[in-house]
This record gives sequence, structure tokens and C-alpha cells, in this order.
Amino acid sequence: MLKTEGSASAYRAEPPDRYVYDFADGQATMSDLLGGKGANLAEMTRLGLPVPPGFTVTTEACRHYLKTGRLPGGLDAQIAKHLAGLEQAAGRRLGDADDPLLLSVRSGAKFSMPGMMETVLNIGVCDATVAGLAKRYGDERFAWDCYRRLVQMYGRTVLGVSAEEFERALIQAKVRKGLVPDAPDTALDADALRALTRRFQRIVREVSGQEVPQSPREQLSGAVRAVFESWDGQRARVYRRREGIPDDLGTAVTVMTMVFGNLGGDSGTGVGFTRDPATGAPGVYGDYLSDAEGEDVVSGVRNTLTLEQFGALDPDAYRELRRHMATLEEHYRDLCDIEFTVERGKLWMLQTRVGKRTAAAAFRIAADLLADGTIDEDEALCRVTGEQLAQLMFPCFAPSGGAIAPIAKGIAASPGAAVGHAVFSSADAVARAAAGDRVILVRRETNPDDLPGMIAASGVLTGRGGKTSHAAVVARGMGRTCVCGVESLEIDEQLGTATVTRGRSAGIVINRGDLISIDGTDGSVYDTEIPVVSSPVVEYFEGHGTHTGDPVVAAVATLLGIADSRAQLGVRANADTPADAARARRFGAHGIGLARTEHMFLGERRPIVERLILAESQQDRTNALNRLLELQRADFTGLLAAMDGLPVTVRLLDPPLHEFLPDLTELSVEIAVADATHQPVTAERRELLAAVRRWHEQNPMLGLRGVRLGLVVPGLYAMQVRALAEAIVARRGDGGAPLAHIMIPLVAEAHELELARAEAKRVLREVDPGLTVSVGVMIELPRAALTARRIAEHAEFFSFGTNDLTQTTWGMSRDDAEGAFFPAYLEHGVFTASPFGTIDPEGVGALVRAAVKRGRWTRPDLEIGVCGEHGGDPASIHFFHQAGVDYVSCSPFRVPVARLEAGRAAVLARREAAGSDAVGSDTR
Ligand code: PEP
Ligand code: MG
Repeated sequence: MLKTEGSASAYRAEPPDRYVYDFADGQATMSDLLGGKGANLAEMTRLGLPVPPGFTVTTEACRHYLKTGRLPGGLDAQIAKHLAGLEQAAGRRLGDADDPLLLSVRSGAKFSMPGMMETVLNIGVCDATVAGLAKRYGDERFAWDCYRRLVQMYGRTVLGVSAEEFERALIQAKVRKGLVPDAPDTALDADALRALTRRFQRIVREVSGQEVPQSPREQLSGAVRAVFESWDGQRARVYRRREGIPDDLGTAVTVMTMVFGNLGGDSGTGVGFTRDPATGAPGVYGDYLSDAEGEDVVSGVRNTLTLEQFGALDPDAYRELRRHMATLEEHYRDLCDIEFTVERGKLWMLQTRVGKRTAAAAFRIAADLLADGTIDEDEALCRVTGEQLAQLMFPCFAPSGGAIAPIAKGIAASPGAAVGHAVFSSADAVARAAAGDRVILVRRETNPDDLPGMIAASGVLTGRGGKTSHAAVVARGMGRTCVCGVESLEIDEQLGTATVTRGRSAGIVINRGDLISIDGTDGSVYDTEIPVVSSPVVEYFEGHGTHTGDPVVAAVATLLGIADSRAQLGVRANADTPADAARARRFGAHGIGLARTEHMFLGERRPIVERLILAESQQDRTNALNRLLELQRADFTGLLAAMDGLPVTVRLLDPPLHEFLPDLTELSVEIAVADATHQPVTAERRELLAAVRRWHEQNPMLGLRGVRLGLVVPGLYAMQVRALAEAIVARRGDGGAPLAHIMIPLVAEAHELELARAEAKRVLREVDPGLTVSVGVMIELPRAALTARRIAEHAEFFSFGTNDLTQTTWGMSRDDAEGAFFPAYLEHGVFTASPFGTIDPEGVGALVRAAVKRGRWTRPDLEIGVCGEHGGDPASIHFFHQAGVDYVSCSPFRVPVARLEAGRAAVLARREAAGSDAVGSDTR
């Protein structure tokens, strides 16, 4: 969501072999090429903020490297040229023995992938420069600390030595000095660090058979390659799949002059947000660590100061930081997060981006920025998503009135209420979740290797780290509940225990497998299962649109209002009962797009249907139909009353008839056993078996369903139509305004529809010649889509049944496929999402487009809806908007999400047509 300045295509006009851009040459719109980090560093440079000099190697170079295994020709020379410029700007040279320049080399893809790729710091320190570095900063300890960090990072990242090798040596160095193993690294003096550097070098040699190069230029090119390669690392791939980030984008590499936060008490490093990323509340927010490098803050290994505490420590740097944060928020017109370093009192801005936020914060910030005139209504709408709204409709914990006290409190890092069995490793989380358990991943702190466990868990609980720790950032990004930094919990991952060490609950132990609850909204941890209640947003809808001033609920109301005013797609609900219909109406549905009538035939009514199927005589059949007629009339009357004045689309019976009869195998076995043991079997039972055999189908989903049933079972559809017609008449008599439509399912051929519709119209006329009830068709078979021109001759409306349309287009059972090969297909990239969840635009979508076009060729004013599951899916809603559909219909609970997305689809399509840069462009 970046400000658009100039044309996004400006950089494409550059020669294709330009692979390196100085910060001064880039801008925020260039994130495709420079990655988010590179583009935003360029933007900050242009804004005149204090950014250390640097340059960015493009994603194009990365893509070339990943494809060919070689750096693009000329890249080395381009890097050398830009390095020379950087050296001039910094007034220092790489490898200069007296005053060496040190560089950081960082990854930065178009979409932020926090902690998923590699970074190498302190490039340029080597035997020849370490003394010069010590001299320049007047600090020998510092110089050796840089050197050992370089060997450690380079060894791990470029040469593949495991992190534990270095950790072990670091602990030994501390113990040798008489320190405890988790003493801060700052406790090691220059001599100890020199020895440690040499030890690290030996480890690298022994484990990898290679050396960390002594040539700073070689260090630089090794680090660039390692960053490129980290795009394809396991962690990065898992993260991309989870976030839906394409695999072929590649990462840029940002090369920047090192500035140091580890130069003593007047130095330090921090991260900040221009608003609270958890709640969206105004006011800066962040963490600071003095005498530390950036990785130390993000990893959550040491406990941090708040920004206010930093302000007390270094008022000048803090004031300047606040100024820059305000500049950035004003410039980007959004919540920004930043990373900064203070080097001996001098503030440097190392990174910014439009910050990740929780769903609640997204709504609140968009509404606040709208209210203060920073953004307009369209932009505010584009700042939130249906997925975020769905998250806000998750349940939360029931208030216990203090009856259940938390055993510990931590930082509320990502909201929601999560209950699950405690697990202490990522692998355990994955295994138990796969077995069907809800789990909470409990870790001292998380690192990127915990990602699979975080995905599998309902919630994440950590003992250390702040709101910007890895656990917090990643959990927020995925919408997982997270409580972090619970310092009163002593977590032993080996033993699988978490022990409360302080407070009234001291001594309580959570063991592996115990049920626990965590509240990501207030940071509470409970050693029991807490009942869960619906969200304030749901309460708001249930309360007919009144709210108690909760800023998030108010924001949802405002943005939904804007969405409704922009939407061209209507939103109806799939509802079969008066209760569902009433709820759908409270959630903002404009009618029922699909009332499935099959549930009206199940349960205690099943024996009546059985009698209908088995009827020997016309009289038996009529008796059964008359009984069903009464029941159906009452069903329809309830639905029409709940939706009075709004359309109710009744779909005539669809499922295979055998579903109303006993199971063939069970009945066969029952009778065979009775016969074998000479037990009596009634004639009725044997007739039933014969009937079940008659109706049995190998492939019922492709068998006697839908309109076929209506044409084959005499009187069935006529009874349903009569029930509806009589319900309309009765409702009118009660002063209501019923508005019903009849929908014929699973039509493949126009003549099927012609017959079924003729019968429906005849019955409608019989009940009341003045009744105007339109009769339409579900398009849910490829043949129907392809012959839509002829079908439309008999249809007063279309509604796409995209569940069956997907099933029959792909030839995959909608009931079985998701369990069997879907994970493998997602893994192989055959699907990027399940086609039953999100419309497949090229296949099923092409049929939808064709049917819309052909149907309207016959009837230009043909009303067209969608009532498959896709009607509530955000991405699919955008597709349907573009395809010219009139409305979508979805489950009542998804109605608000569909309303929001219908509005967004209209705004985004308009922006795209106007050639603007879609989301986040300047609309002031
Ligand atoms: C469909 O097929 O998309 C549809 C709505 O009908 P059902 O799910 O009831 O088959
Ligand atoms: Mg269907």
C-alpha cells in the first residue's frame, strides 16, 4: 500500500541489463524490482531521512541466478561501480586497512517475508582491517565483536555451518571467562572475542572445508549469492505457500553501509510502529535495545525497552525519531513500521514499510485515517479485506466474571481466543494437529524453523520477546492468536513443561498435552479450557446494527456502509430455515439466493419420502405427497415471512433418491442374516430391499438427481411448487409481501428445463392465476453453460451452482477430493488454492463467462446469480463482479464478508480501468 509517485513503468524503460540501483535512484513504486526493503529505503532517501548510503541488486538478477545458477553477466562490474559511489558517499573504502567500510547485505522481496531469508552483516572485516576498525571507533572489543559476528553469520548463511556449532563455542567462551552460559555477549572482552573469532574460523574450516574469505569483495559476492539462494530455502518456501506469494518473484539484495548499535550505552537499535499494530490505536509503539544489533531485537532473545523508555534515555534521538515517524506516516498515509539504529547518539533509519497489522487494527486505522481526511472512502475500503473481517467474526472467550483467573499474563501479540493441547515443538504441533487435535505451540521463543508448527497450531505462546518478536510478527501475519513474552513462565522444551515461577499461581505446571487457553487480546494464559463466545462484530450484526462505541465495531460499520454504496454485486444468503433467513437478514443479505429443500425431506419426514418412493398405487403416492405438501407449505411460509419483501429463491429437490432409503449393504446383510438363521422377514422389508436395489447407483452424484428426479418421480416437483404457491397466497392473506422464485437444479439440456418449467407454471396457475413467480435454472453442468443460449429461452434467471460446476468440470468429487490428493496437488503447485474454495478462473470461470454471455444473448436482461460456496469467497467475488454477475449468495455468516468484497471489487475494478495502481494509490 504505497504511495504512487510517477509511473510504475518508469523503471521498465531502463535497459534490461541494469541490475543495480543506488538508493537515490529508486522509489517506493519499484518494489517489483527492488523488493519492498530496497524500494522503501530509496523512498526514505528521497524524503531526506538519514539512511546510510547503499544500493540494491534487483530481483531480476536473482531470477537470472535461480534459473541459470550463475550471476548475470556484468553484475560484478555493476556492483563494483555502485560500490565505488557508495565508498565516496561514505568517505571510506571496503578493505581499507586504516578506515574500513563495513557493509550489511540483506534480502528483500516484493512482499515482506520476515525472517524467512538471509542477512549477512559486517562484510568487510578481516585480518587486514580489524585493527583499523578498532582504531576508528577507539574500541578493540567492538572490532573483534564485528569480526566474530561476520564469521558466525557468513559461516552459517553462506557456508552452511549450523548455528548450534557457534552457539556452543560462544557458551564455552563465556564459561572459560567464569561467566554463566546465558550471560550477555557484552560480557566478553576484546581478548575473549579475538579468541572466539579464531575458534569460529576453525569451526568453519572443519565443518565446511572452506574459509570465510579474507577478501571483502569476495565476502560481498558470497553474501549476495547466499541471499539469492535463500529465496529457495525450505523456510521461505513454506512461508510463501502459506501466504500465497508466487515462487517466481525472487528477492532483491540490499547492500548498505553498516551503522552500529553495539558501540556502548549511547548506541542501540530498535523497531517502531507509527500506530499500535495490534489494536490500531493511535500513538507510536515499539521496542529498543541499547548496545545491540538489529537481529537481537527481532529475535526477542533479550527483553527490550519501550520507545518511551528510550525517550528518557536519549531524548534528542527520540525526538528526531518521532519526527521521522510522523513524516513517514504522512507520506505513506498508513501505519508504517521502521527499524532504526543509534550509533553514538546519531540516529539512522534502516528500514520502513507499510506495517503488518491485525484485522482489528486494519479496520480501525482505515476508519481513523478516513475520519482525519488522510485518505478517501475508496482508499479506506481498499485498506481492509474480507479475510480480515472474517477474522473479526471469530469467537472470543466468555467473560467468567473473575471466576477463572489466568495463571500468567504476557503480551497480547495477536488477538483471538485459542484453546488447545500444549505442545512444545513445531514437529509435535504438526503431528497432533494432523491427528485432529487443537494445539497451542508453547516455545521459549520462536524462530523461522517453527513456522510449520505455527501454521498447524490454533495459537502460539512464548516466554520471551515483545510485540515485534518473531512469534508476534508471524502470528499476526497469519491471523493466529498469540501471547508472547510471558516472563513468569519457565518453559522447558525438552521436558515439555511450562512452570509458573511468580505470582499467586507460582508452582503450577503445564505439561505436554494439557488443555490450555490463551487470550491474544489481553495476554492471559489459562491452564484450562475456557468457553468461547461470539465476537463483538457478530454481536453488532445480531443486535440489528447497534453498537456500543467499540472503535473496531464502529470501523466495521463505517466501511461496510461504504462497501454497500459502491457494490454492484448484490449479496443474498443460502438459507433453508426461518432462523437462518432471519440471521442472514440481520447480517445484511438482500434475500435468499438458495433455499435447499432437501433438509425438509430428512429426519422424521424420511419415512414419508420412503412411502412416496415405494408407493404401489396412485392412492399411496397421493397420500404421501399430500402429507409432504402440508409440511413443505409450513416450511415455505416461515422462510417467506423471515424474508418478507425480499426475494426467496427455492431450489426444487436435488439429491439422489437413494439418500432417503436405507443403506443397500446394511439392509442386504440384515435380510441375509435373518434368512440364514431362519428368522422371519416381512414382505415389506423384502420389498424395501428390492426398491433400494432398483434405485441404487454406482455414481449417485452423476445419477438420478436434480431435474432428472423431477421428471422421473411423478408429482414430486408439482407438490413442491404447489406448497410454495399456497404459502405465497397464505402470506399475502396475512398482509405480507412474499417474493419467491423457483429454481430447477442440475439441468443439462434446454428441454429438461422446458418440461419442468411448464409443469411449475401449470401448478402456479392452478393455485392462483394471478401469481407471478419466476422460474429459473441452476447452471451447474458444463453442458448447461455451453448451451446457455438455448437454456435461456426457458429460464427467467440463471444461478451458477459452482460446487457442482467445479466437480463436473474438473471431474473430481467434491466430497472426496479434498482429503485425498489435494495436499499433494497444492504441494506440486497444480493448485494454488482448492478450486472448490476459490473459483478456477481459467476453467470453471471460463464456463461462467461463456454462460453469462450466451444467456444474455438470448435475454439481455437475464438476472444472474451465484449460489455455490464460491459466492462467499473474496477472490471469487472479484471474479464474479468482473464476469457481470448480478448477485452472489452465501452462508449467512459470510454475508458481511461478501458485502465488503463486493464493494471492494467495484472500487478496484474502477481503479484498474482508470489505469491507476490499484490498492494504495493516491486518491486524494
Ligand atoms: C452447487 O452445486 O453449487 C449448489 C449450490 O448446489 P448444491 O451444493 O446443493 O449441490
Ligand atoms: Mg449443486
